[in-house]
Amino acid sequence: HRRAQTALEQLAARDGLTGVANRRSFDEKLDNEWKRERRDLGALSLLMIDVDHFKPYNDTYGHQAGDRCLQQIAAALQQEIYRPGDMVARYGGEEFAVILTATDTEGASKVARRILDRIAELAIPHSSGEFGHVTLSIGVSTLLPQPGMTQEDLVSSADNALYQAKHAGRNRFVVDQVAQAAPDPAASRPQS
Ligand code: GH3
Ligand code: MG
Ligand code: MG
Repeated sequence: HRRAQTALEQLAARDGLTGVANRRSFDEKLDNEWKRERRDLGALSLLMIDVDHFKPYNDTYGHQAGDRCLQQIAAALQQEIYRPGDMVARYGGEEFAVILTATDTEGASKVARRILDRIAELAIPHSSGEFGHVTLSIGVSTLLPQPGMTQEDLVSSADNALYQAKHAGRNRFVVDQVAQAAPDPAASRPQS
């Protein structure tokens, strides 16, 4: 009985089409990691990823091919994210999100670069897109969780960076620069 329940929970945590974590597990994970890094005074990074010109892809190749394309992208993302604490999730539609724990801006940028390179290698044909093959735009944000901020701040910052990446010409990543003070270690120390 217990085994069946675990299997069911696993199923409920995954996106049906792509097999990566679903939105619900993403929200849960982000909440947990936010609290953890706030405690450990570490950096938390988030990548918001959106497929470029995916509507014309569907219009050209059909919805089923679109589904297969999303499956290929999800598998590629999962292969590039291999640290045990990290997570690839389908955020919704043709948007994915990657949570990188204890990772600074430099580390997150490296992962974004690696993902773009990998998708370029895949070279999924996209005749109605501007690059000839399927590409992604990525928004990168890193925050040091502190009192007075929430994980929503990290999501909107990464979203903002994604918006910038789209407007700068797509097929690229942009890092959102949030002016932020280094955390004060004394603030988390118990009062004596
Ligand atoms: P942009 O480069 O600005 O992101 O343009 P876009 O065409 O990707 O953006 P838009 O938001 O207009 O289109 C998103 C498309 O993604 C439309 C929708 O039909 C498609 N889509 C969303 N979810 C799925 C899915 O599960 N399967 C398939 N095949 N298509 C999907
Ligand atoms: Mg979109
Ligand atoms: Mg899109």
